[in-house]
Amino acid sequence: MAEETIFSKIIRKEIPAQILYQDDLVTAFRDISPKAPTHILIVPNVLIPTVNDVEPEHEAALGRLFTVARKLAAEAGIAEDGYRLVMNCNRHGGQEVYHIHMHLLGGKSLGALVSC
Ligand code: 5GP
Repeated sequence: MAEETIFSKIIRKEIPAQILYQDDLVTAFRDISPKAPTHILIVPNVLIPTVNDVEPEHEAALGRLFTVARKLAAEAGIAEDGYRLVMNCNRHGGQEVYHIHMHLLGGKSLGALVSC
């Protein structure tokens, strides 16, 4: 059984966060340390530690991440200019919180994705 992170407590509203959206499958809230003018985290309510732990039974929740990203991008007014969706995995991916989450980043030109 994977260990819970702070995101489970945010999902259950046991600790504060600026929650922008929640339904039976996913929760979206503002990143505490934004890297862009819009920086929202969209997370499945069920604890999946990393993308390496994704199973077919998670497909509905993971698909929902995209429909919620689309909705929140439109609400934030960044849909037309564009934005970036990021999901980090493990150390080399820069993952810090082991409850998978989609970063929705936008509000400015984000530049190149990575350098070698
Ligand atoms: P990762 O590096 O795992 O892909 O991203 C984790 C993200 O979670 C970081 O951008 C970090 O700022 C954010 N974060 C970490 N702890 C908290 C928290 O307690 N509340 C919120 N809202 N964001 C958090």
